[in-house]
Amino acid sequence: VHVNVINITSLIDDLLNLGHIESGFDSTKESVHLGQLVEFAIEGFRRQIDMKDMELKVELPASLPSILANPVQIRQMVDKMLDNAIKYTPPGGSVTLRGEQEGDQVILQVCDNGIGVPAVDLPYIFDKFYRASNLSGNIPGAGLGLAIVKSIVEAHQGRIWVDSTPGRGTTFTVVLPISPVTELPADRLLDSPDAG
Ligand code: ATP
Repeated sequence: VHVNVINITSLIDDLLNLGHIESGFDSTKESVHLGQLVEFAIEGFRRQIDMKDMELKVELPASLPSILANPVQIRQMVDKMLDNAIKYTPPGGSVTLRGEQEGDQVILQVCDNGIGVPAVDLPYIFDKFYRASNLSGNIPGAGLGLAIVKSIVEAHQGRIWVDSTPGRGTTFTVVLPISPVTELPADRLLDSPDAG
């Protein structure tokens, strides 16, 4: 029997959060050091990683540049992807976090050797409330994490995609511009009326 126990509080949190991100409610950006942010994120999962006897590899070069971004949202993005990698990988498995610079972008990858995503489900996993067809046992979730991740990536003018092989593992790749072009509000594009 497949039982899905949804935590209502975190469901409501995620829904409100998704609304905020999509509406551009908090689009303030500052310099974000990904290496440090990832280290903090990992700390939050240490217990889970140890309890599942998992191996965590972090390959983030010290030279990785800081990016202009919303630190709270980037942390949420990393947290959601790490949470999934751990949740959908059986005990004893491994998760790898990789980062590199490519021109004026940074690439962040979260890889696991877990259950993977069936090809039929792949086009839909970033959709709200979608969960893949290969979830057996009691893996809780509402299907909102990746919708949030995608909206955060888009709010930063980035791209995200997934490669996965069922039974072998999954890799999420996020590409973010180091300095996204910020859109000025419409009224700021007009000449100021008292400018001359
Ligand atoms: P929530 O994030 O709301 O707690 P969730 O994990 O089901 O629940 P998403 O993070 O949006 O929701 O993921 C959608 C679906 O994509 C998952 O239900 C799962 O089927 C699949 N999925 C996501 N990440 C992985 C992964 N690393 N390995 C295998 N399947 C994954």
